[in-house]
Amino acid sequence: MNAQDPVSRRRTFAIISHPDAGKTTLTEKLLLFGGAIQLAGEVRAKANRRQTRSDWMGIERERGISVVTSVMTFEYGGCVYNLLDTPGHEDFSEDTYRTLTAVDSAIMVIDAAKGIEARTRKLFEVCRLRDIPIVTFINKLDRETRDPFDILDEIEKTLALDVAPITWPLGRGRSFVGTYDLERKVVRRLDRDSEPTAVSGPDDPFIAGLLNEADFKEAREQIELASDGCKRFESQSFLEGHLTPVFFGSALRNFGVRDLIDALKDFAPPPHGLETASRMVDAREDKMTGFVFKIQANMDPNHRDRIAFMRVCSGKLKRGMKAKLVRTGKNIALNAPQFFFAQDRQLAEEAYAGDVVGIPNHGALRIGDTLTEGENLVFRGVPSFAPEILRRVKIGDAMKAKKLREALGQMGEEGVVQLFLPNDGSGAIVGVVGALQLDVLAERLAAEYGLDASFETSRFETCRWITSKTAPELDKFIRAHPSSMAADLDGAPVFMASSAWDLKYEQDKWPEIVFSDIKDYQ
Ligand code: GDP
Repeated sequence: MNAQDPVSRRRTFAIISHPDAGKTTLTEKLLLFGGAIQLAGEVRAKANRRQTRSDWMGIERERGISVVTSVMTFEYGGCVYNLLDTPGHEDFSEDTYRTLTAVDSAIMVIDAAKGIEARTRKLFEVCRLRDIPIVTFINKLDRETRDPFDILDEIEKTLALDVAPITWPLGRGRSFVGTYDLERKVVRRLDRDSEPTAVSGPDDPFIAGLLNEADFKEAREQIELASDGCKRFESQSFLEGHLTPVFFGSALRNFGVRDLIDALKDFAPPPHGLETASRMVDAREDKMTGFVFKIQANMDPNHRDRIAFMRVCSGKLKRGMKAKLVRTGKNIALNAPQFFFAQDRQLAEEAYAGDVVGIPNHGALRIGDTLTEGENLVFRGVPSFAPEILRRVKIGDAMKAKKLREALGQMGEEGVVQLFLPNDGSGAIVGVVGALQLDVLAERLAAEYGLDASFETSRFETCRWITSKTAPELDKFIRAHPSSMAADLDGAPVFMASSAWDLKYEQDKWPEIVFSDIKDYQ
């Protein structure tokens, strides 16, 4: 890391986990380390305040969750950390996926009593698609847990990911007293996280003094087994996404969090080059480039202003500069780019690769948009995922059909839902990956457009974008399925299937057609 080089000092990351594994708690402690907040608990307190402010979005309040994902910036040990938050509620949305396109690494939090859970696996798969390096934190060691080997085994088997334990727990549950660093032979104690003690090895009397006889015996045997049998940390494999360093701790007790923040600094990559449709853009190029991965409607229902979250990919963003919006070819002035902190936001005078800035706008910016200093580049990597839920939108007043179409178009552009227009002219179908998105849609249609909408199951269960190497074959397929074809917001053809079986049947029957469940924007 070079203190003079803003790129090498940056770490842009997300936390992936199943609800309740401890993500919020860990976020609070990370921010505490960075001095971004004075007291742990502020993240929640802030979320409550925000909910009072965002009156129009009643569901946020009702469910006590934040639908809104955001970014938190803090500094620690010479590094600038940008933590991109992903919604923690049980329901989740495409925002969660898209956020992962804007990070360089991720922390995977696992509940030590539960191991790998469904959401963790899903989010991990998205990280794997992009080869995002993952640091693993096994949390809640202060409670009864599963055997550490058992958890490591499960990570290896279910995620097909090599594990390299860096620390090892000393005792578990009530008798958890700290961790032992396998490589450096250092003990950190639960109650004195900041004062590591060097020891001679796992049988050091210092460790014996911390544990009862049975726990000491188990810890010693396990550490010897882990030192001999487990993979060692290897930077290259980690950076390629094949191996994860593993730390044990307790977010609640603020233990092991320092290990994580150090691991991000020492192991995790700074912002690197990103692919565009035409060339690779290096993070250290002079000219500013960036892409929008999230749009957030502002809290004030009377103003249709929105914040576009843009990840800076190269160069230096300066407040007041003009940037070219490649999709339209028009310039927009970046007069009020913003940084977000745990407690407030601030005008961003300058930002570098890896930073995320919020750009206020009135609908000019869409998800997937690239901004440059003039070059026609389009970043790939803000994909759409085939929705898991498809619904027809119904409104009570048929006279408002046109307004509904306009509103759905706007919501589609903002990425609130995906919109599919059936070729046979029947009503629009919306698609989401999490049911919560439908609630958000209904709420916004009511608040912003005065539309009272409800959702009906459609006869379709799933859908796929279709392409083919041969245009005539694609045409033939589309003509053969007049009542099962639709167009997405960009006009791309989408096959709507009534069941997984139906989809499989068509896939087998039409080998020349590619059925894709991910579509890159543009
Ligand atoms: P999230 O849903 O992943 O954001 O999880 P939270 O951070 O809200 O944590 C879920 C619950 O687990 C809360 O009651 C936390 O207090 C608790 N929790 C989080 N970390 C720990 C830990 O290290 N030890 C224990 N005992 N409880 C924890």
